[in-house]
Amino acid sequence: MDIVNDIIAWKRDGHELDEERMSAFVNGVVDGSLASYQASALLMAIVLRGLSADETVSMARALVASGKTLDLSVIHRPVLDKHSSGGVGDKVTLVLAPLVAACGAVFGKMSGRGLGHTGGTLDKLESIPGFNVRLSQGDFLRQLERIGVAVVSQSERVVPADRLLYALRDVTATVENEGLIAASIMAKKVASGTAAVVLDLKVGRGAFMTDLRQAESLGALCRLVGAAFGRQVTCVYTAMEAPLGRAVGNRLEVEEAWQVLTGDDDGDVREVALTLAGALLSLSDLGVDEARGRVLAEEALADGRAAAHFERWCFVQGGRWTPGQFHRLAAVEVTAPRGGYVAGIDALAVGRAAQLAGAGRQKVEEEVDPAAGVVLARKVGEAVAAGDLLCTVYARHSARRASAEAALKEAFSIADEAPAMQPVVLGRERR
Ligand code: URA
Repeated sequence: MDIVNDIIAWKRDGHELDEERMSAFVNGVVDGSLASYQASALLMAIVLRGLSADETVSMARALVASGKTLDLSVIHRPVLDKHSSGGVGDKVTLVLAPLVAACGAVFGKMSGRGLGHTGGTLDKLESIPGFNVRLSQGDFLRQLERIGVAVVSQSERVVPADRLLYALRDVTATVENEGLIAASIMAKKVASGTAAVVLDLKVGRGAFMTDLRQAESLGALCRLVGAAFGRQVTCVYTAMEAPLGRAVGNRLEVEEAWQVLTGDDDGDVREVALTLAGALLSLSDLGVDEARGRVLAEEALADGRAAAHFERWCFVQGGRWTPGQFHRLAAVEVTAPRGGYVAGIDALAVGRAAQLAGAGRQKVEEEVDPAAGVVLARKVGEAVAAGDLLCTVYARHSARRASAEAALKEAFSIADEAPAMQPVVLGRERR
């Protein structure tokens, strides 16, 4: 029996994969010696049998070893990073990155693009004309030294095995395994050289996980993998039943992030950004705890330093940022069929509507429309009268507007009574 078959049968029969078998699997995927049907069979065995903590760490190790790792030691400061498990209207990185840098810490991130109903930071940044997310490694490091903030696209050479495996998982119903997810997320963080990371694990209809316990279990595994590599990991759990903030769509979200940075918005985006900023600053070399970190971040928002840092960041990365200056697409309005209170806004439905409007992509190679999306006029808990505006859809073509509008009609639920309000930050854990 050949070794690949052996490994698949070993896992199928419920045994643990040791480091050697795990490396053989991951290396085989990268060098092509493992056929995709063999890798898929093993992935399915993993999903059905589960991965132990040791196997998860072995998998992360094999993933990291599959490509280049970045050495950020030339910065001589801890480089902080944040990762979101993905949501709708999640523009927090746009606020957090300049905010943390304005407080004197260093924030460096390799980011991804949106896929499906969730958005991606790179698409949001690229909605600013000229913003360049493809920096060389040298330019990334120089920018971190110069202004303390850089967000760039993930290099093809960092964790190549994850890209290949994720593409397979995506089409073989094998994404949903917490060991595979933890190894995939943390391998990218470890290989990109960050010293400390705050994970924003989203919970709710618009997220990957709909249950807080599931998210906490994933968070615990990520912390365990982080510890195995000597990285500090703090997990924050945040609500994603309804979209975060009011804007969903690339440039629309940048505009909303700017409002938060300039103090014109004190809603849920600001709350998540401040919570994550407190957590991140406490992992920096500034010698502050989370509470003090949050106060520093509040001050940087209030006195304009965070907004000024955002402008500088855009300028240095090539972006021509002028608030409010972008091509407005034709709009269609969705109104309330009856009066009452907004009891729920289905984040998944809004995310899909924004995607239909052109803000998101179904396949990685598709282009996004920077100005397309949805802006909510009402948030959960607000009162409405029949005929009041609930949200506006912006799209380039009428067919897109019509399909997004149809998706949004189902997104709002209106009740006679005001709903019990849920906090946006559901909990946190630290290593
Ligand atoms: N995000 C990742 O980076 N990897 C996964 O496996 C799932 C979500």
